[in-house]
Amino acid sequence: MIPASFDYHAPRTLEEAFALLQAHRDDVKVLSGGQSLLPLLKLRLGAAGHLVDIGRIPGLEYIEERDGALAIGGRTRESALETSELVRTKYPLLADTAAVIADPLVRNLATVGGNLAHGDPANDHPATMLALGAAVVAAGPGGTRTIAIEDFFVGLFTTVLEPDEILTEIRIPVPPSGSGGAYVKLERKVGDFATAAAAVQVTLGADGKVARAGIGLTNAGPVPLRAAGAESFLTGKEPTEEVIAEAARRAAAAASPSPDRRGTVEYKREMARVLTARALRRALERARGEH
Ligand SMILES: Cc1cc2nc3c(=O)[nH]c(=O)nc-3n(C[C@H](O)[C@H](O)[C@H](O)COP(=O)(O)OP(=O)(O)OC[C@H]3O[C@@H](n4cnc5c(N)ncnc54)[C@H](O)[C@@H]3O)c2cc1C
Repeated sequence: MIPASFDYHAPRTLEEAFALLQAHRDDVKVLSGGQSLLPLLKLRLGAAGHLVDIGRIPGLEYIEERDGALAIGGRTRESALETSELVRTKYPLLADTAAVIADPLVRNLATVGGNLAHGDPANDHPATMLALGAAVVAAGPGGTRTIAIEDFFVGLFTTVLEPDEILTEIRIPVPPSGSGGAYVKLERKVGDFATAAAAVQVTLGADGKVARAGIGLTNAGPVPLRAAGAESFLTGKEPTEEVIAEAARRAAAAASPSPDRRGTVEYKREMARVLTARALRRALERARGEH
């Protein structure tokens, strides 16, 4: 439970942080809420000679709509999403997700940027952001770049972020009217990581057919999974019970979960199917203003 020793740095500006990250490039980690990194260090599953705490850099915690997107500062805490009226009323998929991450103590510290940057397919926000078609902004010494979320995760605990880059913002397109989303998670007990979970965001056209569908699955493989086959199957169709059932079947077929204490491959895949159908039904109800 005692981590290997490290030097702790607490820069006050992004520029100072970049300089530290560059100086110790091969032996450094960004520290944000610490809710994933510190347990890893304490269990000695990871090590870094230098931690650069970005918690004292102002201007990285916000939730606001601008330029057609919901902009979330990279250090925004889960508890801020949970209590945001804007998120609750207009982004129910995000509100659902934040409410089932860990417990209130963890949510007071854990950040949305950290949840994504950790690259853990068991984390809940990657699937949500895939369903929402989000993008992340990475800032580094050479400037900033915007990365589509589907290009962000490249392997288990691995993202395209460079060691000297900081995830400063998440951008989610403002959903058009007729949109709704839902996150449905199966966990062994409150606060646990998902046995399986499904994130769904849909937009219905004036004719009641699906104009856009986004589906992400949690803990369904080594990287967060976007169920693209199920999305394209839904698009342009009237969302009948049969269509929902087939989309859920296609989403589950794309899953390649690992067996562990939470269940066998078959069980997890079946749960992915059941949860995708439930999330789809709830998202559709919300898109129609029924829920
Ligand atoms: C008891 C417990 C239960 C949990 N249950 C869940 C759960 O149910 N669902 C879930 O999704 N998560 C869960 N978690 C994990 C944790 O909540 C998330 O991974 C958390 O959001 C990580 O954010 P953080 O700010 O704490 O990141 P940190 O722990 O500080 O960092 C995590 C990783 O991301 C990197 N990083 C962090 N922020 C940035 C940034 N802005 N730019 C670049 N790199 C960055 C760090 O270098 C590190 O590699 C749980 C954690 C605990 C302790």
